[in-house]
Amino acid sequence: IKNIAVLTSGGDAPGMNAAIRAVVRAGIYYGMNVTGVLRGYDGLVNGDFIPMDRKSVANIIQRGGTILKTARSEDFKTKEGRQRAYDQLIKHEIDALVVIGGDGTFTGANLFTSEFDFPVIGLPGTIDNDLAGTDFTIGYDTAINTVVNAIDKIRDTAESHDRLFIVEVMGRDSGLIALRSGIGVGAEAIMIPEANMGVEGLIKRLEYGRKDKSSKIIIVAEGDEIGGAFNVGEVLKENFPNYDIRVSVLGHIQRGGKPSCMDRVLASRFGVAAVEGLMEGRSGDIVGQVNREIVFTPFDHAIKHIDAEEISPAWLKLVEILSL
Ligand code: ATP
Repeated sequence: IKNIAVLTSGGDAPGMNAAIRAVVRAGIYYGMNVTGVLRGYDGLVNGDFIPMDRKSVANIIQRGGTILKTARSEDFKTKEGRQRAYDQLIKHEIDALVVIGGDGTFTGANLFTSEFDFPVIGLPGTIDNDLAGTDFTIGYDTAINTVVNAIDKIRDTAESHDRLFIVEVMGRDSGLIALRSGIGVGAEAIMIPEANMGVEGLIKRLEYGRKDKSSKIIIVAEGDEIGGAFNVGEVLKENFPNYDIRVSVLGHIQRGGKPSCMDRVLASRFGVAAVEGLMEGRSGDIVGQVNREIVFTPFDHAIKHIDAEEISPAWLKLVEILSL
C-alpha cells in the first residue's frame, strides 16, 4: 500500500482530529502518502481531496470537531454515487481508505466494500457509543463529561430554587449517554429507549422517592419513546402540580469541546492500528478496543450493536438504589 486516504463522516465527535492525526502520522511513518478527503462521502464522490503532510495535523490533537469537515451524503447512498466515489479513488491512485464515523458511515462502507474490491477500515467516531466491537467509541467519554459538567450546573440552580429539572441528552436510538451521565450526576430517574420506563414508571419512581429532596433531576434520552423532555414536562405538570418544573435540552454542546485524554489516546491508538491493519491486508473491519486490546470487527457485525454495552437490569437497579 502506497497511498491511503482518510475521511470523517456522519455526526462529528470530539477526538476525530486526534484520529486523523494518528492516521496521517502512521501512514507517513510507514512510508505512505496520505490524502485527506473533505466533507465525508460527499468529498469522496466529488473528488475533494487534499494532500496531508505531518505538519498538516500539527496542533489539532486537542481540538474538537474535525479539520476535514463532515457531512451526511445522499449521493453515497446510491449505487451511482458509490461508483463515482470509487472512480475518484482510482483516478487519484489511492490504494486504501480509512473512514471515521458511526453506524451510518459503516453501513455505507460495508456496501462499498461488497460492491468494489477496495480496502476500507473504519474507526468508531461517535458520541453515542452504539457500536459493537469496541468498549468505547471516540467521543463518548468527552460527551458524557460535557453532560455531567452541564448538569452539575443545573443541579446548583435546581437545589437553590427547589426545582425539578428534566434534562434531555443526545444518543439517537441509544440510551448510553443518558445512563452513564445520569449515574454520574446522581439523577433521580433516567428515561432511555432500552428500558421504556414510560409515564407510569416515572410517576411511580417519583412517588417512591424521598419527598424532602430540594432538587430532582430527570434525564431523558432523545430516543426515548416518550418523545423528548418537553413531553415529560407536560405529563409531570399534570401529575405533580406542586412541583416547580423546568426543562433543559442540552443540544449540540454535547458534540463539541476539547476531547478528554481518554478519547485522545483511544483515537491515537485506533488511527495507528487502522494503518497497520491495512498493511496486514485487512478490509471491511472497524478497529475497536475490548478489554484494553485492539480488535477488528467486520462492519456488518459492528453496526448490529451485538455485544454493545448492554443496558442490563443491573445497571437500572443501580440507578434505583442510588436515587433513594
Ligand atoms: P453518528 O452516529 O455520529 O451520527 P453516522 O456515521 O451514523 O454518525 P449517518 O449520517 O447516519 O452518521 O451516516 C453517515 C453517512 O453514511 C451518510 O450521510 C451516508 O452518506 C452514509 N450512509 C448511511 N447509511 C447508508 C446506507 N444505507 N447506504 C449507503 N450509505 C449510507
